[in-house]
Amino acid sequence: MESTEYLIVGSGLAGMTLAHTLEKQGLRFKIIAKPELSKCSQVAAGIYNPVVFYRITKSYMADAVLPFALSFYGNIELKLMQKLLYPHPVAKIFANENESQLWEKRREEGVGHYLGEHVPFVGDIDRLNSAFGFGLVNQTGSLDCETFLSASLEYFKPYWLNETFQYADLKHNHDGVEYHDIEAKNVIFCEGHLIANNPFFNAIELKPVKGEILIVEFEDDLPTEEQELILNKKCYLLPIENRQYIVGATYNWNTLNDEISTEGLEELSKNIREITQIKFKVLRQTAGVRPASADRRPIIGMHPSHPSLFLFNGLGTKGVMLAPYYANELLQLMTLNQQPHKEVSIARYLK
Ligand SMILES: Cc1cc2nc3c(=O)[nH]c(=O)nc-3n(C[C@H](O)[C@H](O)[C@H](O)COP(=O)(O)OP(=O)(O)OC[C@H]3O[C@@H](n4cnc5c(N)ncnc54)[C@H](O)[C@@H]3O)c2cc1C
Repeated sequence: MESTEYLIVGSGLAGMTLAHTLEKQGLRFKIIAKPELSKCSQVAAGIYNPVVFYRITKSYMADAVLPFALSFYGNIELKLMQKLLYPHPVAKIFANENESQLWEKRREEGVGHYLGEHVPFVGDIDRLNSAFGFGLVNQTGSLDCETFLSASLEYFKPYWLNETFQYADLKHNHDGVEYHDIEAKNVIFCEGHLIANNPFFNAIELKPVKGEILIVEFEDDLPTEEQELILNKKCYLLPIENRQYIVGATYNWNTLNDEISTEGLEELSKNIREITQIKFKVLRQTAGVRPASADRRPIIGMHPSHPSLFLFNGLGTKGVMLAPYYANELLQLMTLNQQPHKEVSIARYLK
């Protein structure tokens, strides 16, 4: 029997940020994960943005989670010797005068710290449909999720079993767990939307939402190409290289699988037209299912009657920003019995 302290199930953003967090504390762990089972983290555009555009408000816990995430991924860049973070300002293109007025109003309120200047319309409307100008957001950019995950799995290879976790084979009591030939103190389930298959935690109902993205190449430069802005209007265009952009994303609560669809392709292609009339070709289309919760908060905590079993889920649409901070909260819970804030605690599901 091989002995370790923690068993992590899943190798998406939740599982990998947790593994790096445990390693930093010198804790021992094993990872059981089959990445093909859920593509969510692998396909994510990886954008971090502390502003929610719907009403131009601050995103949940932005002041705490954003600096934590940037410092976390910065350290991982050095550890893995890989470039992961790409700071780019987000340009919110206003659809009408009301949106630009609301932006100015919010700039004077609490969101001001993140809301940058209002840039008036310049140039050719076919090349950039921004007659009402756009607002720049500060402290935004993207994480290269694909590289973060593949480089992390390579780094943790000696501790990783590439297999599907079999729930029926888990033996557990108050002191720990046994799984095949491994014994550990705790298991932490980080399975994304596949939590639905987990008999220990399937009472937690997520509100998963499928998303599709495209990688496109434009025939000409967008006017904002030089500043490398992430453009946002109905969809986002995240610059990657030479006229190539990631375009996202769709939201579908009904068909929950990792298959690409013609509806997704049509919707995103139509949304690109809201930003520019420059012609493009589609290089790639991908899909995944986001593990969103009904109240849009992460879910962390210990099983109410099996104290060796823990959960890290509910990262929803903002996994990049949220995962490092809440991996750390989970660590405090498992090692110091420090309870997470009630807004993110599993307790809200288990009344
Ligand atoms: C199209 C799209 C675009 C997105 N864009 C962004 C963005 O720009 N910014 C942002 O912050 N977030 C974005 N997200 C959301 C982000 O991807 C999620 O918040 C995050 O990836 C969730 O990570 P997770 O680890 O909880 O889940 P997952 O990524 O689903 O990972 C779960 C892991 O567990 C494994 N697993 C599950 N069950 C088992 C089992 N029984 N045995 C073994 N392994 C198992 C799976 O294979 C997988 O590796 C996007 C999502 C999508 C779909």
